[in-house]
Amino acid sequence: MITGTTKLLGVIGYPIAHSLSPVMHNSAIGHLGMDYVYLPLPVKPENLSQAIEGFRAIDLQGFNVTIPHKQAILPLLTEVSAIAHAVGAVNTVWWTGHHWAGTNTDVAGFVAPLKAGERDWSQATAVVLGNGGAARAVVVGCQHLGFANIHVVGRDRQKLHAFQSSWLPGNDSGQTESTCVPVPFIHTWEALPHLLPQADLLVNTTPIGMHPHDRASPLDATLVALLSARITVYDLIYTPRPTQLLHQAQAQGAAALDGLEMLIHQGGAALQLWLQHPAPIEVMRQSLLDYLQL
Ligand code: NAP
Repeated sequence: MITGTTKLLGVIGYPIAHSLSPVMHNSAIGHLGMDYVYLPLPVKPENLSQAIEGFRAIDLQGFNVTIPHKQAILPLLTEVSAIAHAVGAVNTVWWTGHHWAGTNTDVAGFVAPLKAGERDWSQATAVVLGNGGAARAVVVGCQHLGFANIHVVGRDRQKLHAFQSSWLPGNDSGQTESTCVPVPFIHTWEALPHLLPQADLLVNTTPIGMHPHDRASPLDATLVALLSARITVYDLIYTPRPTQLLHQAQAQGAAALDGLEMLIHQGGAALQLWLQHPAPIEVMRQSLLDYLQL
């Protein structure tokens, strides 16, 4: 129940109507019986700094950050975690009592289902399709899991080179955290026939196959046939479930992971930061499955 004492949390983005975070967080808060509410907060890009000042004025306790503010918010925060610097984006902000601090829980969200299995990923090879914002969190996640080789596949050579240079020593990336994390190799899509047979993990960070393009897949039948029996295929998309790519991978005998787990676990990590209490992951998962009618 929302009362006069209820504390405020939320998510900023523009547009924000599509966000699933209010469903998942309010279900979790209700389950825990804690006196918080989580609101969708539409903030236009030109109003970002004004909104952050306003949040202090209304005593907002913390908030998630989504497109288009994930990078733009960095200079507005007093404290930014090493992991958010490595990704180059913030998705979770909290008030420390003195200032706004930000981090990136997409990395924790991405690695959670990979850590849940028995598999040891150290020395493994990852192939990442796409070189946008989500791919950055995926690369940092793979670095944290100890992958020996991370191959990033994109369609635009210029963007690929910019992506790779951001990881080189001297740039504000994962290199600041450790000197021995692998810099991703970059490739265009033509390299996939060579890359796929050696991959232990394939991650789709492109929107190919996302609803309403349910039948689309980033891999055609010839490329799917090159997936090794040991591979795990991880699609960051969560609708449809499974995606065409995961359907193909499972038919090939591969292990499959979808984006719902990443979404739930990045939310769980954020909620834990705000409430200083473990997040009810199963409640969050069920709320999304119910809401999405999956
Ligand atoms: P983004 O920054 O726009 O990056 C998308 C990437 O996909 C870019 O590299 C883009 O290439 C590439 N791409 C787009 N269409 C393509 C096509 N037809 N062929 C080849 N490459 C294509 O988006 P993002 O924020 O990284 O998000 C990407 C996906 O991940 C979305 O489906 C999103 O829903 C999902 N995601 C899921 C979670 C989760 O929690 N599960 C979290 C974040 C994102 P160019 O740069 O050349 O355009």
